[in-house]
Amino acid sequence: MGIVQGVGFRPFVARLAADLSLAGLVRNTTTSVLIEIEGPPARLESFRFRLEAEAPPAATLEHVDVETIGTLDALHFEILSSGSEELYSAGLPPDLAICSDCCRELEDPTDRRYRYPFLNCTACGPRYSIVEGLPYDRDHTSMRTFVMCAACRTEYGDRNDRRYHAQPVACPACGPKLWFERDGRRLEGDAIELCLEALAAGEIGAIRSIGGFHLACDARNSAAVERLRSRKARGDQPFALMVRDLATAREFVEVNRQAAALLGAAAAPIVLLAKAGSTQLSEDMAPGNGYLGVMLPYSPLHRLLLFGRNGLDALVMTSGNLHGEPVVTVNEEASEKLGGQADFYLKHNREIVAPCDDSVVRLYRGRALAIRRGRGYAPVSLGLPSATVPALAAGADLKCALGLSHEGRAYLSPHIGDMENLATLEAFTRNLRHISSLYRCRPELVLYDAHPGYLSTQWARQYAAENNLPSRAVQHHRAHAAAVMAEYGVDPALRVVAVVFDGTGFGDDGAIWGGEFFSGNLNQLRRSAHLPYVALPGGDASAKRPALAAIAHLHAVGLDWLRTPSGASLDPSQRGLLQQQLDRGLNCHLSSSMGRFFDAAASLLGIRHRVSFEAQAAIEMEAVAAQWKDHAGYTAGLWNTAELWAEMLADDASPVAARARRFHETVVRWSCETAKTLAADERVDTVVLSGGVFQNLLLLEGISVTLEKAGLRVLVPRYLPPNDGGLALGQLYLGANLT
Ligand code: ZN
Ligand code: ZN
Ligand code: FE
Repeated sequence: MGIVQGVGFRPFVARLAADLSLAGLVRNTTTSVLIEIEGPPARLESFRFRLEAEAPPAATLEHVDVETIGTLDALHFEILSSGSEELYSAGLPPDLAICSDCCRELEDPTDRRYRYPFLNCTACGPRYSIVEGLPYDRDHTSMRTFVMCAACRTEYGDRNDRRYHAQPVACPACGPKLWFERDGRRLEGDAIELCLEALAAGEIGAIRSIGGFHLACDARNSAAVERLRSRKARGDQPFALMVRDLATAREFVEVNRQAAALLGAAAAPIVLLAKAGSTQLSEDMAPGNGYLGVMLPYSPLHRLLLFGRNGLDALVMTSGNLHGEPVVTVNEEASEKLGGQADFYLKHNREIVAPCDDSVVRLYRGRALAIRRGRGYAPVSLGLPSATVPALAAGADLKCALGLSHEGRAYLSPHIGDMENLATLEAFTRNLRHISSLYRCRPELVLYDAHPGYLSTQWARQYAAENNLPSRAVQHHRAHAAAVMAEYGVDPALRVVAVVFDGTGFGDDGAIWGGEFFSGNLNQLRRSAHLPYVALPGGDASAKRPALAAIAHLHAVGLDWLRTPSGASLDPSQRGLLQQQLDRGLNCHLSSSMGRFFDAAASLLGIRHRVSFEAQAAIEMEAVAAQWKDHAGYTAGLWNTAELWAEMLADDASPVAARARRFHETVVRWSCETAKTLAADERVDTVVLSGGVFQNLLLLEGISVTLEKAGLRVLVPRYLPPNDGGLALGQLYLGANLT
C-alpha cells in the first residue's frame, strides 16, 4: 500500500489496526508509507475505508495503492523504525499548531504538563523546524539531547496513547526549559509571569518561538507599538498581530467562517483580513493599510502568554530580524542582533534547526492564497509533471526561496529573505545544505534568474562553476508561469495562455518586463502581448517612488503631469530636472511592469507617492477600490493608456474609491480581452495567471471570473505564492525541460 505520509500517520495506522485487531506493520519507504496488513477480508475492507476517512487532518494522502501479498503470520501490528539507508521524501511533516487535547492539559492543574510551554503530541508540535535529518525520528531532531523520563517513555511506546511515537514528546521533568533574560542575565522566577509583567509595562520582548524569534509588545499599547516601529526602522511595514481567540480577532478585523477556519488550521498562518472599523489600534499596526495580518496562538508558550493572568489578549508579533535579514533563531545571536530592539528576552533550549518565518496568506474564494510560505507549510514537496534532471533553482533576489528537484519531485525551502546581505546569503546556503541532505538531492543542473545583476544569479553561477555543473538562466516571467503549470501538473506539451503581472523582471530584450502575455507550451512560451513600454527614470529604483512611475507614464503618452497630484508631490526644482531627464531619456529604462502601472495609478489618485516597502501603494489602492461595489470600468480602448489616464484624471469629481475601482476594472477588461483573443487564435482552453501583482485579489478574482465565464480553464497559484517566493518551482520545471 503506497501512501504519502503526513503527520502522525504511522501512529494513526497502528491505532486503527489495533482497533480492528489486524496484524502487520507500517514503515516509511523512500517516497511513501508502506503498510502490510493481514486479517479477515471484511475487517481489511473496513481498514481500507477508515484509513482515508479518519486520517489525521494534517496528513495528506496523495493516493492509496493496494496490492495483495503472501501471508505475514504476524502476531500483532508494529511500527518499524526506518532503516538509516531509507529516506522518505514526502514524509517530513510541517510544524503544527497546538491541538485541543494539549490545550486542555496545559490548563489542567492536575496534569503533569500543567503550564508546560513545550507540551505536544502526535497531532501537534514542532516538526520541520527541529529536524536535522531523515527519517523523522527523535534521534534526527534537536530533541535528541533531551533524554525521556520514564513517564514520557511509557507514553511514547504505548500505541493507545496520544503520544505514541510523538518524536518531540517532553514534560517538565525531562524536556526543554524556558527562561527570562534581561541585560544578559537570567532572572529567577516564573519566566511566563516575568514576561507578562514586562509586556504589560509596555516593554518589547524578543521571544523564541517555533521557527525563530519574534519581537513582541502589547498591541493595545500605542506607545509600545510606536517604539517597536521606530526601533525596527521599517517605515510603515505592517506588523502581524497574535490574538487570544476569534472574538478578540473580530475587534481588529472582519472574520467570516472561512477566515475562522484558516486561522484555526493546523498550519496557523498569519491571515491578512480587512480591518474592522477604524480603531487607532489597527492603524498603529498597519498604517494606511486596509488589511491587517492576524494569527492565533499556535504554540503552548503563546497560549500561556495570551491567556495569562494580566489579560493581555493581543500582542504584536513581528519577525525578530535585522532589516532585510533572515529571522534570528539562535539564543546568542538574538542577544547580539536584537539587542537594539528588545528590552528583554524569553529564551529556551530547544534548538531551531530550520528557520521558518510565519506564513502569510490571503483568503481567496474560500481558500488560502499564499503570500509567504514558512512555518506550518514548509517543507513544500510537489510531484513534477514530467521527468526532469535533478536540479537546483536559486529563485530571485526578493522573497528568496530555493528549490531542489530529485526523482520527479520538487522541494522548496521556506521563505528565506531578501538577497541583499551576507546573512541572507548564509541562510540560503544553510537551507541548501539542509534540504539536500534531508532529501539526498544531488543537483546535476543549476538554474537561476536571467537578471545578470541578481546576487542569486551570481551565486548560482559560481556554485555551478565550483561544482562543475551545467547552469542555465530562466526568464523571470516564464518561470512565474511555469510555477503555476507545475502546481497543476500541466503537461509540458499542453499549449496555454499565460498572463504574468509582476513588479519587475529581466526581459529577453533587456527591458524591465512585468505586464506579459505568453502563449505556447512549457518550453516555447512566446511573448504574445505586453503592457506598452514606458521609459522609467532610474528603472527599478522608481519602484520606491510611485510618483515617478506616474509621471513617466503620463510623459510617455504626451499628457501633462505638472498639475496632477504626482507632479504636485515634487518640489519645483525636482520637476525641472525630471522633465529634462524624461525629455532626454537619461538613465531611463524601458518597462512594461504591471506593478509600476498600478503604482502610477495610486500616485495619480493621490493615494501614495513614496513607499516604505514593496507594493505598498498598490496594496493601499486595492483596499480603497474594494470599498466601491460598482463594477463599471472606464471606456478607454484596449491598452490605450493615454485614454485611461485622461479619463481617470477627468473623473476627479468622483470619490477616490470609485476611480480606483474603475482603474482595476479597466485592467480586468483589457486583460481578459487579450487573453481571450490569444486563446481563440491559438485554440487553447487553459489560461495561467501568475506574478506578484496577482496578490491583488480584485484583479485575480475579476480576471478569473470573467475568463471562466468565457468557458476557459483558469489556473491560479495554489500552494506557492504568486510572487517571487514561488519562482524556484517554475525554474525547476521550465529550466529542466528547456532543450
Ligand atoms: Zn497535541
Ligand atoms: Zn518527561
Ligand atoms: Fe516576479
